[in-house]
Amino acid sequence: MKGQDILSEIASTSSGEFYTPLPRGYKPGKTKYVVVTGSVISGVGKGTISSSLSKLLQDRGMKVEPIKLEAYLNVDSGTLNPFRHGEVFVLEDGSETDLDLGTYERALDKNLRGENFVTSGKIYQRIIEKERAGKYLGRDVQFIPHVTGEIKLELRNLAMKTKADVIVIEIGGTVGDYENMFALEALRELRYEEGSENVCFINITYILEPNSLGEQKSKAAQLGIKRLLAMGIQPGVIVCRSQTKLKESIREKMSLYLNIARENVFGVHDVSNIYGLPLVLRKKGFDEAILHELGIEKRFKTNGNKELRAWSKKTSVQGRATAVTIGIAGKYTGTADTYISILKALEHCSFKLNRPVNVKWIETTGLEKKRKKLKESMKGIEGVIVPGGFGVRGIEGKIAVARYCREKNLPYLGLCLGFQIALIEFARNVLHLKGANSTEFEPKTKHPVVCLLPEQRKIEGLGGSMRLGGRDVELKKGTIASKLHGNAKKIRRRFRHRFECNPEYIQAFEEKGIVFSGKAPKVPIMQILELPKHRFMMAMQYHPEFTSRPLRADELFLEFVRKAVGK
Ligand code: GLN
Repeated sequence: MKGQDILSEIASTSSGEFYTPLPRGYKPGKTKYVVVTGSVISGVGKGTISSSLSKLLQDRGMKVEPIKLEAYLNVDSGTLNPFRHGEVFVLEDGSETDLDLGTYERALDKNLRGENFVTSGKIYQRIIEKERAGKYLGRDVQFIPHVTGEIKLELRNLAMKTKADVIVIEIGGTVGDYENMFALEALRELRYEEGSENVCFINITYILEPNSLGEQKSKAAQLGIKRLLAMGIQPGVIVCRSQTKLKESIREKMSLYLNIARENVFGVHDVSNIYGLPLVLRKKGFDEAILHELGIEKRFKTNGNKELRAWSKKTSVQGRATAVTIGIAGKYTGTADTYISILKALEHCSFKLNRPVNVKWIETTGLEKKRKKLKESMKGIEGVIVPGGFGVRGIEGKIAVARYCREKNLPYLGLCLGFQIALIEFARNVLHLKGANSTEFEPKTKHPVVCLLPEQRKIEGLGGSMRLGGRDVELKKGTIASKLHGNAKKIRRRFRHRFECNPEYIQAFEEKGIVFSGKAPKVPIMQILELPKHRFMMAMQYHPEFTSRPLRADELFLEFVRKAVGK
């Protein structure tokens, strides 16, 4: 039976055993689905491979929509601690998501929406709302078919809404986690219902190579993938990640024991430049194999690898220029994921300027008390970024760093919180407003130069929420910000904040030399500040790092790095 027949049959049965709500007018086969799962261990590049694959399919002229199915029960990533889970990535529509969405946006160079990110919490919330509204008509609501049905609906809605040729579904975690069992079951059902020609499973696994043995061992990978088989899921393609090149004998084993054609077992050992990965995968025949599984390799042909080659060249640093060292005044916790978009935005600058960027972490806690320690921490640093953040810890140290940059004419780029820090510092040391602060850190401060947004004040009692997502920023003619954006009147950037520059202090700031070169249309919310006399002192209430793209570095980041280089 073909997908269409299976779906019609399900739709016509009245016994209610099935629960497969379909979007109106949905036809299987119009959109293909590629499901990417991981096995053995997490963190071996499932996201990178999924986004590279998305890029490869896009390169063939396909309309690609990625979707990440995250297992956790949070409805979105907004409440997650970035030091534990990595950065919260904000989309244009204001959705707070996992950092993987940033990886996709950068690879595909397109804006994604909330529908591209689905957590278990979001699914359960929807189900409970429906149940309370009596939508299940007296049925007991069950994991199967209701949770799985809701997951499938989410995917098909995305397919209908976007008219995508292919949806690349990345499942968070690894096969065998309890948390993602229902997602996997939903996708097994999806393949059954859509027809095997319309859904292809890929598994990213890891081949161990213990030092003590000095050879590759595939048992863990086999067992990991066998769990998929036990769930009724046959992967069509697998990627074996490994430290060294995949041995032919391992490929054979994986093929034989897991029912996968040998040519569909791909080895990807550690590559240094992830931007080159799409081209590496293309040359191995990776996307070709997947499209072959889906029967569309003839419909979406490659037009040579010219564009991929150009991309991979433009996303690397050519020549041998010495690196520029940028300090980030944030908490480094051993994982770069907390500030991943900032690191990427710097990388984008390094491509454009052909100059490697080194990052040095500046631990700010207690820094304000020791002038000597501050000086020491700034050694070798050619420009400082004060990134976004919440809460009072390390704030005084950051203010000390901002002061150091202003007084020593050292390039300073303040992002969101970094904008507020620059204001506080300036208020204290130039306007001489003793104890000036943000009400976030000192609710009773005599000089609340940064305070709650008026719109936030109203809703604060209700738990509050943030000013989130894409907003217009009006640029003031003749300012540095305006010039750097090609004299544009307006740009659009992404926000995530609750506090702002207190409008009552705007005039005082301006009188002493701060230029507010970007502001919100109609309301007095200041969004970019600059100090024209400084080598480079700029800060913004938005997050430029979220919209910086590999071949389109953010203009202000770029100028910051340029100034740090001293050119
Ligand atoms: N804590 C500040 C605010 O809420 C800054 C937020 C941020 O840096 N994202 O306004």
